Amino acid sequence: MIPFIDLAAQQARLKPRIEAAIARVLAHGAYVMGPEVAEFEKRLAAFCGARLGLSCANGTDALSLPLMAWEIGAGDAIFCPAFTFAATPEVAPLSGAEPVFVDIRPDTYTMDPDHLEAAIEAIEAEGRLRPRVVIAVDLFGQPANYPRLSEICRRRGLKLIADSAQGFGCTLNGRHPIAWADAVTTSFFPAKPLGAYGDGGAVLVNDPDLWERMDSLRIHGKATPADGRLDAHDPKYINARVGMNSRLDTIQAAILLEKLSVFEEEIARRQVIADRYSEELTGVCLRTPRVIEGGRSTWAQYVVEHRDRDGLAIHLRAAGIPTAVYYPVPMHLQKPYVGFARGPGGLPVSEAKADQVIALPMHAYLQTSTQDDIVEAVRGYNG
Ligand SMILES: *Cc1c(COP(=O)(O)O)cnc(C)c1O
Repeated sequence: MIPFIDLAAQQARLKPRIEAAIARVLAHGAYVMGPEVAEFEKRLAAFCGARLGLSCANGTDALSLPLMAWEIGAGDAIFCPAFTFAATPEVAPLSGAEPVFVDIRPDTYTMDPDHLEAAIEAIEAEGRLRPRVVIAVDLFGQPANYPRLSEICRRRGLKLIADSAQGFGCTLNGRHPIAWADAVTTSFFPAKPLGAYGDGGAVLVNDPDLWERMDSLRIHGKATPADGRLDAHDPKYINARVGMNSRLDTIQAAILLEKLSVFEEEIARRQVIADRYSEELTGVCLRTPRVIEGGRSTWAQYVVEHRDRDGLAIHLRAAGIPTAVYYPVPMHLQKPYVGFARGPGGLPVSEAKADQVIALPMHAYLQTSTQDDIVEAVRGYNG
C-alpha cells in the first residue's frame, strides 16, 4: 500500500535540521512557552501577512479562542458550513452559542455566500438567536469567497473567522484570508499541509487587543497590562477572566520553524501534482477540483467526484492505493447536531456531495511514477 500522505519522505529531507532543533530545546529546557514559540508566531504571521500570530494547543482551540475573546455565548448564532470537519461547528455549542448550518457552492465546496445571507435573514426574522459570527472553511485547501463573505459580515455587523486548518497558505488574488477575516485559524495536526509531530494550532489576527485577550485566555485568563494589577505579582496568578490551558509545545514550535522554511516550496509542488491529476482525470471522473477564480489552493486534499465512489475505493484499495472520504456525513445530519438550525431550503448540495467525493493520495513528495500508477488505476475502473 502506498502512503496516503507520506510524512516519512518529508522527514527524511528535514531530519538533520529537525533533530538539531529538538536538541536545542532539550538543551535550554524551556519546554512550555520557550523562545521558539514566540519566534514561530512571528514567522507564521509574516508568512501570511498578518500583524500577529498566537499559537495554541490545536486547531479546535484556535477556533474557540476568538469566540471566547468576543464573549460569544448563549443566544448567539454562529454560521458555518456542514460539509467540514467536526471541529468547525463543535466550537459553537462549546461556547454556549448555536451553529446555523449553511450550504456550500457545488463547484468549490466552500460556503455559499447567497445561502449565508438567506440564513442570516431567516435567523433575524425568527428572532430567537442573535447573528454574531461566520466561520468560513478553506475546504481541501482553497480559499472561501472572502470578498463576498466579508462584505456580508461587514454590512450586517458579524465577525468573520477563516477556518484555514486545511488551507493555511492559500491566497485569493495574491492575498491571504487575513486580508478579509477578523481571525484566521489553523491546525498543525501532522496530516495538515503544515503539520507538526503532534497537536498544535494558531490564530492569526491584525488587532493587538484581540491578540492580548486570546493570549490571556490560552493561559487560564492571566491578567494583561490592560487588566491592571500587574505591579506586585506574577500575572499568571492574577486571573482576569475564565480561560483555558492551550499552548503550543516548544518542541513543536521548533519543528514547525523548520517545516515552515520549506512550506512555500511544498505548496508549489502540491500544485504541480494537482495539475497533473486534473489533466489526467478530467472526463474520467464526474468532476475534478475547481478552484475559485484568482485562488491558490494548498491542496490539503485532492478530491474528485465519482458516480460509484465506494466501488472505486474498493478497486483502488485492491491495487494498493489508499483513498479517503471527506466527508461521508455532513455535520447537520450527525447526531449531536441534528437539532440545530439550517439555512432556508436545507443543505442539498452538502448532502449530494457527501455521496460522491473521494480523496486521492496527495502530498508534496508524491513521485511521478506513483502518481502514474494511481491515475492508471482510476482510469481502469469501469464501475
Ligand atoms: C483539522 C481541522 C480542524 C481542527 O484541527 P485540530 O488541530 O485537529 O483540532 C478544524 N477545522 C478543519 C476544517 C480541519 O480540517
